Amino acid sequence: MKIRLDAVEERIQQAVKRCGRSRGDVTLIAVTKLFPASVIREAYELGLREFGENYVQEFQGKANEVSDLRGARFHLIGHLQSNKAKIASELFDVIQTVDTAKLAQRLDAAGKPLDVFLDVFLEVKLSAEDSKSGALPSELPALIDAVKQCSHLRLAGLMTMPPWSDDAEPSRLYFRQLRVLGEQHGLSALSMGMSHDFEVAIEEGATHIRVGTALFGRRKKP
Ligand SMILES: *Cc1c(COP(=O)(O)O)cnc(C)c1O
Repeated sequence: MKIRLDAVEERIQQAVKRCGRSRGDVTLIAVTKLFPASVIREAYELGLREFGENYVQEFQGKANEVSDLRGARFHLIGHLQSNKAKIASELFDVIQTVDTAKLAQRLDAAGKPLDVFLDVFLEVKLSAEDSKSGALPSELPALIDAVKQCSHLRLAGLMTMPPWSDDAEPSRLYFRQLRVLGEQHGLSALSMGMSHDFEVAIEEGATHIRVGTALFGRRKKP
């Protein structure tokens, strides 16, 4: 894992250098879905602190084993159904996939204890392809208003997932669209880019990249 992490770090360094950004502008989120809690611990030992998980139920089974990792933060990056909002708000520090006002309100009502905010990203759907989750760009103004009225939520920024492609370059237009939307709405955090296209995402302004395979190897099918 150390060798893979070093390689990912090197790729990040090269990408930020190419576009005149600094390493501190980009947060690496280690995507540990479908890997056991021991992998999270090992990554933590190597210095990683931000982790991404896709499935509420799967992480529920691992959360106890990683609850002692001080300073670790867990991001939900998979689709969230509003009937799982309460448990998700308890398990995660960040929800990256808020796409409806109803879901935001459910998360808000669940309320983190003791004035701890739940950080949220709004997932934006930028392509007409199969994946059904994400708010349309035209729905963003109303969704942003709704989230701003939620006193337990703190709006961080936008998240997107371009249509799958083996190449990185086709993602660029989607990443650029997300950046423009962020600028239009005054949202500075942009979660975009995965193992195969995070350099392009960094060039287009990503502040958070979500990397699984490049760090941990291939996952089993869910
Ligand atoms: C699985 C996943 C990732 C990580 O993908 P890799 O190609 O393994 O880096 C990033 N974002 C989301 C939303 C994912 O579901």
